[in-house]
Amino acid sequence: MQTRCYSCGDVFDATRIRCDCGEPVWFDGDATDFEWPTGTVHGVWRYASLLPVAPTEGLGWAAGNTPLLRTPRLDDYAGCTLWVKDEAENPTGTFKDRGSAVAVAAAEARGATAVGTVSHGNMAMSTAAHAAAADRPCVVLVPDDISAARLAAISQYGPDIVRVDGDYGQLYFDSLELGATFDIEFVNSDVPLRVAGQKTVALELIEQFDGVPDAICLPVSSGGQASGVWKALRELRDARLIDSLPRLYFVQAANCDPIAAAFREGHEVRPIDPEPTAAYSIANANPPSGNRVLAAAAETDGAVVSVPEDAIHEATRKLATEAGLCVEPSSAVALAGLRQLAASGDVAATDRVALILTGTGFKELSAAATDAPSVPLAKLDEHLAAILSDA
Ligand SMILES: *Cc1c(COP(=O)(O)O)cnc(C)c1O
Ligand SMILES: [Zn+2]
Repeated sequence: MQTRCYSCGDVFDATRIRCDCGEPVWFDGDATDFEWPTGTVHGVWRYASLLPVAPTEGLGWAAGNTPLLRTPRLDDYAGCTLWVKDEAENPTGTFKDRGSAVAVAAAEARGATAVGTVSHGNMAMSTAAHAAAADRPCVVLVPDDISAARLAAISQYGPDIVRVDGDYGQLYFDSLELGATFDIEFVNSDVPLRVAGQKTVALELIEQFDGVPDAICLPVSSGGQASGVWKALRELRDARLIDSLPRLYFVQAANCDPIAAAFREGHEVRPIDPEPTAAYSIANANPPSGNRVLAAAAETDGAVVSVPEDAIHEATRKLATEAGLCVEPSSAVALAGLRQLAASGDVAATDRVALILTGTGFKELSAAATDAPSVPLAKLDEHLAAILSDA
């Protein structure tokens, strides 16, 4: 399968990552004959005919096949009729497993010496897990000041972790060059292999939804997942399985919102100087696929917005208390954004919207203060009676 620049249309071979114009490329096969699969294969390999690599054995078979749920108790809060795609149910708790499954299979097929990534969070864990299951050496490049907790989370899968002292933004580009030199398949956030795997979240969503939602809303950092969602919808349109694309809404934390700022101000994405945010999994201040996200919003009549910290915390809590879903703040950002879009009139109460909940909250539960009372066993009956009379 060839790669193509979404922006200028130039075509390259399968190993290309960025176009001469500076923008990222993606795998671009002919999707016109694609039909919904009828077999019993679920997960990313269900859509193998749209992917640049054939399935291999291993953890990749556990990636994807996540539920799409109606969450009626959140409709009022979100300001629309809401479905959520629960990507927490992937083997390492995020959608990153879709991209890792495809990328590690490709590295195996190519016989690459090793797999690599630049990440200190979910992508590092996911890449390392899939590489471990495929018995591929894995190199994870992390910032020098990584926390002990993160280091432990990644190291459980046994990759070679290297703390790199230097500009972490530059490391994204340098790692791709070093990968070519040392035959390490670097599957960074928005490289074509990862985007190909991440396409499957939208293929699955549309197949499950049975029709096309009015909009899809997701959090965005590098723009890798957003690119995959956009590409999948274009392919479904090419295959005439959908007539039109849903509006794509992308959400960032206001404390680190280079793509939303560019959307607001009407220019290309520029690196910014971020503030800290609870949504640190989406805090990329120099997103390599930022302009591709702007193009996706423009083509689908969508938008890129950003939300303040208090809205992120509130949305995280609402997902737990109104839908029973434990997500990390980076996922809840999408719900906060949707609520804002409903308030501004971009989203109507009658709109049917699918939210992509990108990652589980179980990795980082902090010890929040609770007010659970201590009750003597002999008084438990009285206590329960009191609770129920309040309910
Ligand atoms: C990586 C990640 C994102 C952002 O994905 P990009 O492809 O970098 O835009 C969103 N949410 C979670 C939980 C993530 O781990
Ligand atoms: Zn180009």
